Amino acid sequence: MNSDDASFRITRACAATLMLSLSACAVNPATGGRMFSLVSEGQEIEMGQQAMLQVDAGMGLYDSPGLQAYVDSVGQGMAAVSERPDLPWSFKIVDDPVINAFALPGGPVYLARGIMAHFNSEAEMASVLGHEIGHITARHSVEQISRAQLMQIGLVASVVLVPELRPFGDVLGGGLGILLMKFGRDDESQSDELGFRYMTRLGYDPQGAVDMFEILERQRDASGGAIPEWQSTHPDPGNRVLAAEQRIATSQIEGGVVRQDQYLRRIDGMMFGKDPSQGFFVEGRFVHPDLRLQFRFPEGWDTQNVPTAVLAQSPEGDAVMQVTLAEGATPEEAATAFFDQQGLERLGARSRTVNGLRAVQGTFRVTTEQGTLDGQALFVKHGDLVFRFLGYTPTSRMGTYAVTFERALESFAPMNEERWINLEPRRLDIVRVPSEMTVERFFMRFPSTVTLETVRRINGWRQGHVIAEGSFAKRVVGEGVPGDE
Ligand SMILES: [Zn+2]
Repeated sequence: MNSDDASFRITRACAATLMLSLSACAVNPATGGRMFSLVSEGQEIEMGQQAMLQVDAGMGLYDSPGLQAYVDSVGQGMAAVSERPDLPWSFKIVDDPVINAFALPGGPVYLARGIMAHFNSEAEMASVLGHEIGHITARHSVEQISRAQLMQIGLVASVVLVPELRPFGDVLGGGLGILLMKFGRDDESQSDELGFRYMTRLGYDPQGAVDMFEILERQRDASGGAIPEWQSTHPDPGNRVLAAEQRIATSQIEGGVVRQDQYLRRIDGMMFGKDPSQGFFVEGRFVHPDLRLQFRFPEGWDTQNVPTAVLAQSPEGDAVMQVTLAEGATPEEAATAFFDQQGLERLGARSRTVNGLRAVQGTFRVTTEQGTLDGQALFVKHGDLVFRFLGYTPTSRMGTYAVTFERALESFAPMNEERWINLEPRRLDIVRVPSEMTVERFFMRFPSTVTLETVRRINGWRQGHVIAEGSFAKRVVGEGVPGDE
């Protein structure tokens, strides 16, 4: 620990001079290696804390104080044995069904509830927390930001002035895209190594890392969650499972703390898959049971439902539609606030009704450094809320999309169907297996509302696995969102 402390001080001293001279030198606190950085530790923490507020508010945290406290206590224990124990560490579960975890600069670590559902022990969870802690102690996102800042100095970035019209995928808002960017393969290997260090320092069985990497390697990027999946932000450095096994062999650490039953009991009843109350696509339309609304995007468009917006992109990628909440108490107020923005020109607007709802519809033009965009906007009052429905495309393409936009905007309507309003989410149900049985037998005896393959995957069972008498196992109950597997 002494040499680690020394290198930590060097980094701080170096960062202080750096601010003045802009010469970049630093020693990595976790690895002791030299690193390139334009970001001081104070800036690193500040950036991470700002982004944390955006994630907490924008993505939303999973509503279970007990589970949140549990994840935080395990994470804090691991951070305390890292090279940077004094950072403002926090460990939270975001309310997202995807299999992912991510770290923000200087302390905040997040697990998606989807990855929580795939852990089968505290040791497995500790391996992922350790990996994310490693990204922070080794300052990987800070290095990425330094590179991105350099790019901005060297290149003229083409900026869309109107924040509502940021490109598809940047709806999470200011700067978060940069913070969730993909790490390099070297960073991944290094974080695996650091994660191994932290979990074994606390006496966890490092086999948990092997089991977890196997699950993550088998996972495919498929779901439409708000945050990307593990593989897209943590690229596989190659032979990750083998590397983890070799680490165990070299260290000669055998066994350790696993806490399988304790972990499974904690996640009993946890939501699994999409939360119907946040809205979903079904039968060619988007329905939102809590907001009692529905609308249609054109067939064949890529769609995404994130906490702040519902989005669609044309197959050619040259047109975008999005539905969000608008500012203002009336459609008129919301329209004025939108059309009065700098860089945006109103081409026309009129009051109308859409499926019995009061609305303002208009067309607009935005000038960007790459040319002009034309769009249609609908501001519509439903209940106590005003919604904004936008469709836009390069001016030269408006002829192609004008009718498509018009049709989509006019599909905005109230939704009062009981079957969608009362839809129950899927949940994990932890079962104590009464006698030794095969996976197939378990599936018959304790039915799930997901496929046998999914049950196998979330339990980490390989082909031919036999479940031991008295062990705990996961099944999934509740109807869930149609088509969500
Ligand atoms: Zn990673």
